[in-house]
Amino acid sequence: MPSLYIDGSWTTGSGGTAPVINPFDASVVTDVDQAGPDDVERAVAAARAAFDSGPWRSTSTGERGAILGRIAELLVRDKEEIARLETLDTGKTLAESRIDVDDVTSVFRYYAGLADKDAGRIVDTGQPTVVSRIVHEPVGVCALITPWNYPLLQLSWKVAPAVAAGNTMVIKPSEVTPLTSIHLVKLCEEAGIPAGVVNIVLGDGPTVGAPLTEHTDVDMVSFTGGLTTGQAIIRASAETVKRTAVELGGKNPNIIFADTDFELAVDYAMLAVFLHSGQVCSAGARLIVEDSLHDRLVDEVVRRADRIRLGNGLDDGVEVGPLVSAAHLAKIENFVESARSEGATVRCGGRRPDDPALRDGYFYRPTVLTGVTRDMRVIREETFGPIMTVERFTTVDEAIALGNDTDYGLAGGVFTRDMTVAQRVASGLRHGTVWINDFHPYVPGAEWGGMGRSGNGRELGPTGLAEYQEIKHVWTNT
Ligand code: NAD
Repeated sequence: MPSLYIDGSWTTGSGGTAPVINPFDASVVTDVDQAGPDDVERAVAAARAAFDSGPWRSTSTGERGAILGRIAELLVRDKEEIARLETLDTGKTLAESRIDVDDVTSVFRYYAGLADKDAGRIVDTGQPTVVSRIVHEPVGVCALITPWNYPLLQLSWKVAPAVAAGNTMVIKPSEVTPLTSIHLVKLCEEAGIPAGVVNIVLGDGPTVGAPLTEHTDVDMVSFTGGLTTGQAIIRASAETVKRTAVELGGKNPNIIFADTDFELAVDYAMLAVFLHSGQVCSAGARLIVEDSLHDRLVDEVVRRADRIRLGNGLDDGVEVGPLVSAAHLAKIENFVESARSEGATVRCGGRRPDDPALRDGYFYRPTVLTGVTRDMRVIREETFGPIMTVERFTTVDEAIALGNDTDYGLAGGVFTRDMTVAQRVASGLRHGTVWINDFHPYVPGAEWGGMGRSGNGRELGPTGLAEYQEIKHVWTNT
């Protein structure tokens, strides 16, 4: 079956085909069609026409909510198939992929419910004969560009509110992991979204992503991905003054006080950074520990990290899968080597696994680094891999300062039994999300996004819908 979907038809592209690689063993899962410049043009034209003159324009918020509800039901129906595709594509464990599908279903249900509750408002003018109305309207044609670490989840955070608000869209998933994005578009079609409203084009950033960001008929770019790509997208969007919502990287602190529940803190310290092999934008890669607890905590995380079972995400009992690609593995090896040469101590990991069964895949052992300094690359840059660095603090102010000593500002965690201290840290951290005695959870109703160089938008919650809306003021003199 062809893999591009343009104007209501599945089609091959003029860019040939590209293999989708299973990171577990570097085998080819399947080949997918690639878009050429003409396909991008056709997709934008279809989205433009569907927005300007198709039946989509006259759908009510209630009808759009009902469509989103149907997509949620289809996600439930296809859960196992989608989870398997996500694992084959990304390498993450099947358990994680199943959680992703459940989370995505909740996001569609949330926006299904919110779609017809968002009614704008009436403003008091002080003049009895005047009605001043604030109306929420769709932005128009949206380019939705997504990364490879949570392909289905990141796309859903965009598609659900964009549909709820009445936009049309061209989806450009990561060239590394396109499979579940294709499946989601099939579900949009099955749920009854009209031709031209949702389109998907596949291919790499320069060939397919960049033309979308420069296109005069695209009104908005919603992007999740790396900092340098986000900066390029904002620059490209400046010419046509497109709206941009960019969700970028993180260098997230996880601050542990000595009075913490030790077992809880260790459990979450491990989850924070080694989930999905650290390929999580909110990974708590910087463990910042109160001095008096430091040695005990490090000994325990090292002991546990050494025991983490790597393997095929499809197999039972596997805790962590491979990195997504050979290129990403090389990047992680380079980070550890540069930290080593700058004087960091590798307490565990720091190498590929010995197991011959994992030789063909892109595996890297969970790694803990101590003796790190603030100027090291591994501390300043997002590694996006299974690398935990450990630093010490002695006062609350020092912990907050260390937590904020990054250009990014996506998320942070704090572990303590003292809620006064916890709230002080939460208000001191310049990060879009702060977890207290927890790490990584989210709910569809709570906004997600970053401060600083972690981004300029918010996804999820009512603000996640507002990102896809224009605000119009209608003044009626009756
Ligand atoms: P990336 O920036 O390399 O690619 C992301 C997407 O942009 C891909 O689809 C790619 O093809 C496309 N792209 C590349 N160049 C482009 C261009 N010039 N114009 C338009 N599109 C272009 O990112 P990645 O390696 O796929 O993902 C990892 C990054 O994503 C990490 O930095 C991670 O922190 C970030 N991320 C952030 C969040 C968040 O919510 N803030 C969530 C997940 C991932």
